Amino acid sequence: EEGSYILVMEGGIPTARRGIFATVGEKNGEPVTVLSRFINLARGSLAIIALGDCATFGGIPAARPNPTGCKGAKDVLEQEKIDVPVINIPGCPPHPDWFVGTVAHILLYGLMSSDDLDELNRPKIFYGQLIHENCPRRPYFDEGKFARKLGEEGCLYELGCKGPFTYADCPLRHWNGGINWVIGAGSPCLGCTEPSFPDLTGPFYKKISHWEKLKPPLK
Ligand code: SF4
Repeated sequence: EEGSYILVMEGGIPTARRGIFATVGEKNGEPVTVLSRFINLARGSLAIIALGDCATFGGIPAARPNPTGCKGAKDVLEQEKIDVPVINIPGCPPHPDWFVGTVAHILLYGLMSSDDLDELNRPKIFYGQLIHENCPRRPYFDEGKFARKLGEEGCLYELGCKGPFTYADCPLRHWNGGINWVIGAGSPCLGCTEPSFPDLTGPFYKKISHWEKLKPPLK
């Protein structure tokens, strides 16, 4: 029934050439595009959860030169002038807890309010702090001890770590049932929960060189 369901959107939405680059079957012999299906379902929904970097900010399919005109859900809603609340759960991939926790919150307490979300519509409970704020390698950063190659002790900033401008609770939550996480395994954070991923957060293993385009400033 219209207005009684929450639409969970996964995947980016190609918009170039009226969305023909992604289809979900046929109707009357004509392809049904993801774009048209999303717009129809979004119009009748109570709210939308955009799950993963592609559905939130366009992600890798929207990377330059983006030949399919791929967009995230919120951009398509704005383009179509559809006024439905959106909760963004970015990440490449998003942590399962971020999604399940958001659904559980809605079931227990109702829709998240603007106080529960940050300026990019991400739940603050999961995206409220920088990776850099909770990173166990932070003491190395503060004392200026940087790893010069993978496997070395030290902060991974010089190896391209994007933790200083990436919001997510990976250092506290960990992945794979709490076993480990990317920096714990010795690899820099790629910044995958930010809209600047992957065009500006890349090259992934090069030190950040364009701070002026990235928010927030290094704390
Ligand atoms: S730059 Fe990366 S590795 Fe270094 S302290 Fe910040 S988040 Fe941790």
